[in-house]
Amino acid sequence: MRFGIHVPKQADLPATARYAADIGCETIQLFSGNPMSWTTGALDARERDAFIAEIETAGIGPVVLHTPYLINLATPDTDLRANSLRGLVAAMVRAHELSVGPVIVHCGNHMGAGTDEGIERAVRMLERVLDQTPPESTVALENGAGKGTQIGLSVDELTRLVAPFPRERVGIVLDTAHLWGFGFDLSEKSMLDGLVADLESGPGLDRVWAIHGNDSSADLGSHRDRHALWAEGRMGRRGLRNIVGCEALSHLPFIFEIPGETPEFDRKRLASMKRLDRRLNGPRN
Ligand SMILES: [Zn+2]
Ligand SMILES: [Zn+2]
Repeated sequence: MRFGIHVPKQADLPATARYAADIGCETIQLFSGNPMSWTTGALDARERDAFIAEIETAGIGPVVLHTPYLINLATPDTDLRANSLRGLVAAMVRAHELSVGPVIVHCGNHMGAGTDEGIERAVRMLERVLDQTPPESTVALENGAGKGTQIGLSVDELTRLVAPFPRERVGIVLDTAHLWGFGFDLSEKSMLDGLVADLESGPGLDRVWAIHGNDSSADLGSHRDRHALWAEGRMGRRGLRNIVGCEALSHLPFIFEIPGETPEFDRKRLASMKRLDRRLNGPRN
């Protein structure tokens, strides 16, 4: 497994890459732009080149980009649909410019139209997105906890969302706090094994591209999304050990989304993850 964090933005992109390397990230997530806005902002060519060079020197990969929260792939609203299309296309173009990916986006909310209709809308939206983006750009759909009218909660729903598309362009990212909120108790090894088996027979394990490694302070199955640190969450060490020790997931990037309070905190927790990985899975290469 490769470990990293959602890196807080530093002065510019190269500084962000240096920060990530300095605390020991092997993989990272960044926002594709301002998370609360539709625009990705301008990209300076020199800044881009310096970023790519820093990432390469540090051997960090993959670098994934998280889209703004405003995007709703499943919306019945015409204006929101147009903005969401533009927003996701812009994020994928940005990823392409930075030579990174995949872009991570939430599956969306059906807003009362029902899950089936929501999934259909999201699939139609993704068709247009793939048509309008560079052929080597990729997008990963993030599972939801089930808040409100979210879609993409179960393995079955995720399968229906990704199956219409080429395997090399559309994948899945699993947020462990959202899995917990939806009802998967990953502190039970048999539950995790069952999930892996469902992924194998559903979308295929090769569709799973990353793990958002968050614990949760919400109740199991509560459909609530409350990210927590592993030392303070409900899944706890047992859940963390199960995930890191799961052979079927051991090739994936594992990204903490909750920021550490200090760089020192992140440095320590990344080092301890690498130790845990060694203990459970043997030497790291
Ligand atoms: Zn997310
Ligand atoms: Zn979440």
